[in-house]
Amino acid sequence: MHQKIAVIDERTVMLGSLNVLSQSWTREVMLTMRGAYFARKLLAHEHAETFARPPRCGRCKGAEIEIRRRKNGTWYWRCYAAPCKTTPSGRTDAWTQDIRLTSGR
Ligand SMILES: [Zn+2]
Repeated sequence: MHQKIAVIDERTVMLGSLNVLSQSWTREVMLTMRGAYFARKLLAHEHAETFARPPRCGRCKGAEIEIRRRKNGTWYWRCYAAPCKTTPSGRTDAWTQDIRLTSGR
């Protein structure tokens, strides 16, 4: 299932296959659940605290950091600042850093 999770605040969670931010009508489903305990557990499982705090780029010290995921499932930060990732030869060589997750998946 192409699962979507939207945590509205620390109490309300929407869960399902519908992309709530882009679709107005489909036959897909979305459940809304209320409960602070469930919302906090879900945020912890999805590493929300970690993912909400990207580091500064280790090369240019900029804040243009995006999150990516490797095929093996490892998450990593990546600097997308154009001057930072462009080498003199014209290749792109973006700064990346693996994200160390304390628990979960
Ligand atoms: Zn950079």
